[in-house]
Amino acid sequence: MISQTHLIGKPQFYITNFLFFKKLNKQNLKLNCVTITSQNPIELSKIMQISNEKCDVVISGAGPSGLWLADQMKIHNPHLNIVVLEKRGTYTREHSVKLKRSSFRGIPDHPELKEIVGKFKQKKFIKINVIEQELKTLALKLGIDIRIQEVVKPTLLPQQFPHAKFFIGADGAHSIFRKEIFKENLKLKKSLKYLVEVKYDVWGNSNTLHPQTCLKEGVSGKNEEKSSVSFRFFVNEDVYQQLKEARFNNPYKLETHKHLIPPQTLSTINRWIDKRESRLGEKKVENSERITAIPLEVYATKTFLKEGVKSGTTWGLIGDAAMGFPFFRSMNTSLLSGTILARAIANSFSPSRPLLQRKILAYARPIAGSSIEGNIPNDLVSAAVYFQILSTLESLAAQIKSLGISALQPFIQGASNRKLKSL
Ligand SMILES: Cc1cc2nc3c(=O)[nH]c(=O)nc-3n(C[C@H](O)[C@H](O)[C@H](O)COP(=O)(O)OP(=O)(O)OC[C@H]3O[C@@H](n4cnc5c(N)ncnc54)[C@H](O)[C@@H]3O)c2cc1C
Repeated sequence: MISQTHLIGKPQFYITNFLFFKKLNKQNLKLNCVTITSQNPIELSKIMQISNEKCDVVISGAGPSGLWLADQMKIHNPHLNIVVLEKRGTYTREHSVKLKRSSFRGIPDHPELKEIVGKFKQKKFIKINVIEQELKTLALKLGIDIRIQEVVKPTLLPQQFPHAKFFIGADGAHSIFRKEIFKENLKLKKSLKYLVEVKYDVWGNSNTLHPQTCLKEGVSGKNEEKSSVSFRFFVNEDVYQQLKEARFNNPYKLETHKHLIPPQTLSTINRWIDKRESRLGEKKVENSERITAIPLEVYATKTFLKEGVKSGTTWGLIGDAAMGFPFFRSMNTSLLSGTILARAIANSFSPSRPLLQRKILAYARPIAGSSIEGNIPNDLVSAAVYFQILSTLESLAAQIKSLGISALQPFIQGASNRKLKSL
């Protein structure tokens, strides 16, 4: 069965690859796929037929925000045909996020969704790939169509899905949707703090040394005879500027990049590794360290929803594609705004609001200001107003937290250094 098209390749055909899915592995929810390259006109015509299929909503990105939105839309309106396009075949990210109970308010009354949310609420920290897999399992049960496809040019999506009315970018912090469709028009972008993160592997099991300081420590479970150790600490802007080339895809090594790491930072890193070695008997895997510099940014797009070029279509942004806040808030705002957007989109297909209420919503358009552009359905106006208020409040909260951390930093740093010496 040909399941989908993949829009990359030469301009004469545009469609050169299509993917052939194998059976879903239900245990680990990996999608096994094979890429077949074709320039055969018969195969291409088959793809064109497929691309003419009925689909109401297209979401780019099957991360937590895209899946959260898709699941709730389908629960509100089971008749909706929803396609989620995802560039990754497996969920590999493992960082843990802190979710607030209040982030789940307003969700529809659905037993399986409530069961999943119940599991999330039980944990203080939850791994991102666990969230993704839980939401994906539900999405597949609900009949949402999740496909492996990288959206390279969002403007081509209306050709691929000619019946779709909504195209939503849930494609993360480096969103192509935000760049191409919303022209990267941000109302806010500011680095509030800077972090250095050090990760390395050790042989066998390990443990944390003392987590209650500004040096945040983490040790992952033993995996193939090794454990992964990480710690982070705040640095000032000068240090960040010197280390800003140390990124996730190009991390620094202690030996190779020693000359590029400011002396004070190098000393903190070495002291920490030495203490861990002497106190825990840890054996570092040679050359395994990855040092990265991370800016903690607050950002928000100016427009969240806009009218498409093709009449009757609306484009939107959700999750990290729309806004991002440091200090454990981003995922929470994604959940809150996803709940609101899901209901608004579902309502726009089967209007459940009384006519008067719908008319009043039309008058709310001026309040939405620049968060909407063009003629978007009335049902979505309140969602845009909500996004605008949420992004303003969250950015204020993040800036206040940042000031608080700055004020406390010398004390925390001092306590941390004293503790490190005393160990
Ligand atoms: C180390 C770390 C710790 C964090 N801790 C917290 C915390 O404690 N609390 C909190 O609230 N938040 C936290 N966050 C933030 C949280 O992880 C993000 O807010 C959340 O992952 C955003 O989800 P998303 O679905 O919007 O974006 P993403 O998780 O980035 O997902 C986007 C998806 O879109 C896919 N995609 C991207 N481009 C394309 C394309 N062109 N075509 C098709 N698919 C595409 C990606 O493969 C991905 O699956 C943390 C983040 C990090 C890195």
